[in-house]
Amino acid sequence: MSVAPDPAVPGRDPLASRPFRVRDRRQDTVDTVTLTLDPVDGVPLAFDPGQFTMLGALGVGEVPISVSGDPAAPELVHTVRDVGGVTHRLATCEAGDLLDVRGPYGRGWDVEDGAGGDVVVVAGGLGLAPLRPAVLRLAAERDRYRQVALLYGARTPRDQLYPEELLRWRDQGLDVQSIVDVGTADWPGRVGLVTTLVAQAGFDPARTLALVCGPEVMMRYVASALVDRGVPADRIRLSMERNMKCGVGLCGHCQLRELFVCLDGPVLDHATLAPLLATREM
Ligand SMILES: Cc1cc2nc3c(=O)[nH]c(=O)nc-3n(C[C@H](O)[C@H](O)[C@H](O)COP(=O)(O)OP(=O)(O)OC[C@H]3O[C@@H](n4cnc5c(N)ncnc54)[C@H](O)[C@@H]3O)c2cc1C
Repeated sequence: MSVAPDPAVPGRDPLASRPFRVRDRRQDTVDTVTLTLDPVDGVPLAFDPGQFTMLGALGVGEVPISVSGDPAAPELVHTVRDVGGVTHRLATCEAGDLLDVRGPYGRGWDVEDGAGGDVVVVAGGLGLAPLRPAVLRLAAERDRYRQVALLYGARTPRDQLYPEELLRWRDQGLDVQSIVDVGTADWPGRVGLVTTLVAQAGFDPARTLALVCGPEVMMRYVASALVDRGVPADRIRLSMERNMKCGVGLCGHCQLRELFVCLDGPVLDHATLAPLLATREM
C-alpha cells in the first residue's frame, strides 16, 4: 500500500493542509450550501472531476467533501449538506472565514474515457455535486462525445441542486432530464424514480460510459438498470461514500475488503464493486 503524493505540489506531505478563505456562501436548499473558496497562498488547487478534499473547520474537525466546482476555474467549490457536527460548522460559515483544505484525493470519473461514444450521467439528490465537475467538462467539450445525457432525481423540486445550470446544460447540448420523488402543484415535470429515466434514455449501451452518484441504494438500482440495458459493468462508474479519517490510505476507516475507498476510489466501476457490496449487510 502506498500513500498517494499530493498532486498539487510535488514532494509535499500528502497530509499537509492549506488555508482557504470563504469568498462566497450560497444556500442551495434548506440543508445544503455551496462554498466558494480562495487559496490564501494564491495557488489554485488542481483536481480531476470526482476527487475530494478533506475540508476542515478549525477546532471542530475535518470531513471528506467532493469538489463540485469547475476544473477549469481557479477557485475551489464545495457543496455541503448539513448533517452533523463538522458539516454544520462548514454549512454555517461566512464569507471571510478560514477553512483548512487537504488534498485533492482519490480517483475521479475519468470522463475522457467516454470520448467518441455516449455518456450517461445519473445523479440522485446531493450526488449531483460530485458529478458537477464532470458535467461541466462534458458541456465544455461537448463535441468530443456522441450523446450526453444527464438524468437527475431529487426528492422534491425544492431539493434540486443547481436549477439554473440544468437549463444551461440543456442549451449546451446535454439531454437533461429531471424527475422528483414527490411533485408539487407547480412542478411540470416527471414524478417517480430516476431508474425509470435510465430505461427510457437515448444512448447506445455498447458505446456508453455511465457515471452514477447518489445514495447507495439508488446506485445499486441504477447500476442494475444500466446492466439490463446492456451497458458493460466495467463501463459503469459509481462514487462510493465511506467514513474516512486520513484520506490517504493510512487509517483503514474506509476499507472495503481489499480496497481503500479513499485511494482506490471514491469512483469505482460496477464490475469491481458488485461482488464487494453483495457481501455487505444492508
Ligand atoms: C469521498 C466522499 C465524498 C463526499 N462528498 C460530499 C459532498 O460533496 N458533500 C457533502 O455534503 N457530503 C459529502 N460526503 C459526506 C460527508 O463526508 C459526511 O456527511 C460528513 O463526513 C459527516 O460529518 P459530520 O461531522 O458533519 O457528521 P457526523 O456527526 O459525523 O455524522 C452525521 C450523520 O451522518 C452519518 N455519516 C457520517 N459520515 C458519513 C458518510 N461518509 N457516509 C454516510 N453517512 C455518514 C453519520 O453516521 C451520522 O448519521 C462525502 C463523503 C465521502 C466519503
